[in-house]
Amino acid sequence: MTMHQNSISLKSLHTFQLPYSASEVITIQKAEELEEIEGNYLVLGEGSNTIFTCDFARPVLRIALQHINVTETDDSFRLRIGAGVNWHQLVIYTLKHNMPGLENLALIPGSVGAAPVQNIGAYGVEVGEFIENVTAWDRIKRTWRVFDRDACAFAYRDSIFKRKPDQFVITEVSLTLPKEWQPQLSYGALAHVGKDASANEIMAAVIAVRNSKLPNPHEIPNAGSFFKNPEVTLKKFKSIQQRHPDVAHYQLANGNIKLAAGWLIDQLGLKGFQCGGAAVHRQQALVLINCEDADGDDVLTLARHVQQKVAAEFQVSLEPEVRLMNEQGLIEL
Ligand SMILES: Cc1cc2nc3c(=O)[nH]c(=O)nc-3n(C[C@H](O)[C@H](O)[C@H](O)COP(=O)(O)OP(=O)(O)OC[C@H]3O[C@@H](n4cnc5c(N)ncnc54)[C@H](O)[C@@H]3O)c2cc1C
Repeated sequence: MTMHQNSISLKSLHTFQLPYSASEVITIQKAEELEEIEGNYLVLGEGSNTIFTCDFARPVLRIALQHINVTETDDSFRLRIGAGVNWHQLVIYTLKHNMPGLENLALIPGSVGAAPVQNIGAYGVEVGEFIENVTAWDRIKRTWRVFDRDACAFAYRDSIFKRKPDQFVITEVSLTLPKEWQPQLSYGALAHVGKDASANEIMAAVIAVRNSKLPNPHEIPNAGSFFKNPEVTLKKFKSIQQRHPDVAHYQLANGNIKLAAGWLIDQLGLKGFQCGGAAVHRQQALVLINCEDADGDDVLTLARHVQQKVAAEFQVSLEPEVRLMNEQGLIEL
């Protein structure tokens, strides 16, 4: 049954834990309930990629669909998963039931429903590779839609769902995990893992690396990588490399170069830099943290300062990966 609650604190509903509230929080238990709900609500999963910089004037909708249904063919497992399932719990479930494939994506915070939105990725793997289809309620056309992988238009931290933020409510994600499993160990941080490692051993290695590098949002409120890694032309890359021969980068198939945003921020000595209660994390420059009862202005001022410094030194513009919200919706930084 749909549950409505008025004037609810958002502090525990997003991992940056800013002290704001929402006018209303609606929780649905069944997908069909969406057909009855009107109004300009914001869909929220576990709030690990969303920062509320002030009180939020629109209703917030949460999805409590918790099913995991598994079928199999000769060569693959097919999973239909409710949007409300926690992503990391899903990864653990698949490995426990001998369905490898998602191990590199272990410990990414958030819900299954949000995973396709920014095409979550880590250690050389993206969720889009496994998606068979995504079921969503189209709020504009007021109809159900099933998007196959191509229709999701996945790209680096991007999808059709991200590009049309208030149109689709994802209720179920279908994944295909091939039975012929191939470990993905190409990423530098997993280079120490032996080629014969099992999926469980790879998951353990991923968890160890993540725990050593990223602040736990339960201990230090944060929203993971604050900025996307910027893509630049080869020409621009060469001009940066002339002044910074050790610039961290990798080559993309389209000829452009992807730079590591954290490296750029680190070069400017910004680790530990603080604006009010918000700071650049001391170990991981790409992560901004709420270290001392930050408010929304602290976060926005800090983020803009980082952007300006990086633009001045490298002529590169950093785009936020997190979704920054004002009282009505997304803020463009
Ligand atoms: C410590 C930390 C580490 C992280 N590491 C990674 C990483 O390695 N790789 C990575 O890709 N991300 C990473 N992230 C970001 C985050 O985990 C992902 O973006 C995750 O998918 C967010 O899930 P969520 O449920 O918390 O989404 P939310 O923050 O609640 O929502 C994110 C966006 O998706 C929309 N949305 C949510 N649910 C739905 C739905 N059911 N239907 C339609 N739209 C929806 C929201 O409106 C919002 O725009 C990290 C975050 C943290 C805090």
